[in-house]
Amino acid sequence: MTVSFDLGGKTAIVTGANTGLGQAIAVALAGAGADVALVGRSSMAETEEAIASAGGGRTLTIKADLSTIAPVQDVIDQTLAWSGRADILVNNAGIIRRADAVDFSEADWDAVMDVNLKTVFFLSQAFARHLLAGKQWGKIINIASLLSFQGGIRIPSYTASKSGLAGLTRLLACEWAGKGINVNAIAPGYFETNNTEALRNDDDRNAAILARIPAGHWGRPEEIGGAAVFLASPASDYVHGVVMPVDGGWLAR
Ligand code: NAD
Repeated sequence: MTVSFDLGGKTAIVTGANTGLGQAIAVALAGAGADVALVGRSSMAETEEAIASAGGGRTLTIKADLSTIAPVQDVIDQTLAWSGRADILVNNAGIIRRADAVDFSEADWDAVMDVNLKTVFFLSQAFARHLLAGKQWGKIINIASLLSFQGGIRIPSYTASKSGLAGLTRLLACEWAGKGINVNAIAPGYFETNNTEALRNDDDRNAAILARIPAGHWGRPEEIGGAAVFLASPASDYVHGVVMPVDGGWLAR
């Protein structure tokens, strides 16, 4: 029996695909053969170009502000109207707000929890309802964080949301594993994206973070793609409910 990482004939939905890790994941899934619906608030032109110049995959851009759950059904419907199928959902869109816990505002709490956790749940629900109705195979990949395992500092709603996302990944895996849907998560370490710009611009924090990464460098977005292809492909069919670190060895330290 050969192990298959082939996504030919499959359709993936990637949220927050215009930049950073979402863009890299969309490019990797397209490289493995998937058509990709690129979901988010911003122009997807850069991602469309990257996929086209790598020579593969049809793309559809779906405009959606995921700070509320209003667009979730539309994301699934537009994908189905475009390709007739939806096999893979990558819940990547996420935000972070920084302040000391004693000063943290309700607005910053709610904004982060809404995008990082609430919308992820209801988009996964809409996706799974479609799959379950058609008794169809499917894969959900949540983008968690090291803050799914650790406490962090000055990011209370981010840590709560990503720790919650690890639990949600396990719960959904337990409910849907027997029905042909794999639910797993990737926990990226410290990657060079907008999300970590403030940390990289702080010389002390930058040096402290680098000193703890056994691989010796910040993650480059393209270093996340292999894990996403694995969790999206038949190669991971018996993998359910894991939160897989892709962190240059950070958690092993
Ligand atoms: P990023 O800020 O470059 O990307 C975040 C993406 O989410 C963007 O595409 C943005 O448009 C989208 N987004 C945010 N709010 C949205 C909304 N309301 N509606 C639609 N889209 C929205 O950062 P990134 O590092 O690429 O982050 C991607 C994911 O990876 C996030 O969930 C983040 O928490 C997670 N993550 C990143 C790191 C890292 O080191 N960069 C580490 C761990 C986890």
